[in-house]
Parts: sequence; structure tokens; C-alpha cells
Amino acid sequence: MPKGETMLDWWLIATIAVGALALIGGIASGYFKARKCQPKGFKWKQFRFEAMMMVFTFAFGALVLGNLQTWLKANEWIVVRNEPAAWWVVALEFAAYFITFDTWFYWLHRWMHNEPYYSWIHKLHHRSTSPNLITTFSVHPFESLINGGWMIIFVTVYDVHAASMALIAPTNFIMGLWVHSGYEFLPKWWNKTWLTKWFISATFHDHHHKYFTANFGGYTTVWDRLCGTVHKRFESDFVKIKERPVRRTPADEAEAVPAE
Ligand SMILES: [Zn+2]
Repeated sequence: MPKGETMLDWWLIATIAVGALALIGGIASGYFKARKCQPKGFKWKQFRFEAMMMVFTFAFGALVLGNLQTWLKANEWIVVRNEPAAWWVVALEFAAYFITFDTWFYWLHRWMHNEPYYSWIHKLHHRSTSPNLITTFSVHPFESLINGGWMIIFVTVYDVHAASMALIAPTNFIMGLWVHSGYEFLPKWWNKTWLTKWFISATFHDHHHKYFTANFGGYTTVWDRLCGTVHKRFESDFVKIKERPVRRTPADEAEAVPAE
């Protein structure tokens, strides 16, 4: 085996080992427990349903969105520019996707909260009242089209550079996992600065699953702040999670459950 590949293997093994150690350390020290948005929210019944839907969503995504993208590329509707691009061009292209997806998602998501569309489409995703990583994929096929469709429209309408595409393609996946993780890892000051307060946190989306009628944003809190749809307990509950002690006494445990 060439030397470079052996090095890569070792880096991969080392990264996985450090990750696993951090995970075990985090669980043992109570780091994760203290940061759980809804400490008593996990339900096996919900998890089983989500796992089943996840298999279906992956199959549907590969079949419909995957084939659509392949067809659009083959017929040159989607053209990825392979020439090198300046960093600011990549940043602008990524920002354009990020902002337009956020707008697309906020309004379609709010629309899906109206009857009869809620019962037909979006209710399935809201069977999960306390999200976890796989809740991300527990969605109705039509919602898969909404979530995955914008990227396809965006790169069809505008020819992005390959470097921008490498950033755009995994964004929805990473952001979905991030906001459905059920754990708040951001610092306590997150909602207090003029810049960071506009970006979504796990608590923000966790509240959407808990309260249903607020916090509709996907990537940012911009539209929710502009339209007055931020849940009134969001900022105080966010601080409460951050103030939970890592080591808790039974008395802390009872108090640590916010807004159950
Ligand atoms: Zn919703």
C-alpha cells in the first residue's frame, strides 16, 4: 500500500479513536446529560417510527432526487464550473444558497403548518416531540422534496463553482442533524451578540417540535425574528440549559427539566 494511503488510514483511526474517547468521556462526565434540551424526552416508540421513516426517506431521496439530479446533469441543466474560483466568489455563492434556502424553507414550513396540509404532510415529522439525530429523516416524501428540492433548483438556475458545490451539497444534511440533535452545545452568550443571535441553535428547533406553533426557521432565526414567530420561552430556556450543572444532585435533576 502506498505510504500516503497508510498515513490516511492512521489519521482516520486516530480521529475515530479520539472521537470515541471524547464521546465516552462526555457521557461519563455528564457533559451530554447536562446539555440535553429535553432531559426526559427520549421515547423508544418514537425512535422506532423514525428509524423506519429514515429507511424510506433515504430510498425515496436516492430514487427521486438522486435520479432527477443525475438527469439534469446529463442533460446539462445542471452545470458545475470546474475552473478555480476566488475565495470570495465561493463565499458569495454559498451565502446566496444559504440565504435563499432559509427563506424558501421558512415560508414553505409555515405553509405546511396550515390545515389540511399539516395533516397531509407535516404532521408525520411532528410525531417527534423531542428530536434526536434521526428525526431529521422522519419526513413525508413531499417534505423531502421541499427540503432537498431547493438545492437542485438553485444549482439548475445558477452554475456554481465546484468548490461552492462541495460546501452547498452537505449543508442541508449537516444543518438538519445539528438542529435535531436534541443537545445544546452553543455557548450561553449565543443569543446576546448582534451576529450569532441570527443563527439557529438546537434549542430553537427543539422548541419547534415541543411547542409546534413557533420557531419555523431552518438555518437562521431571521424570518422568525422579523415575523414575530420566535417562541417567548426560547431565550430563557436556552440560558436555563446552559446553566444546568454538569454534575447534578437529585434536587437539581428535578429542577433541571425546563418547561415540561
Ligand atoms: Zn414544523
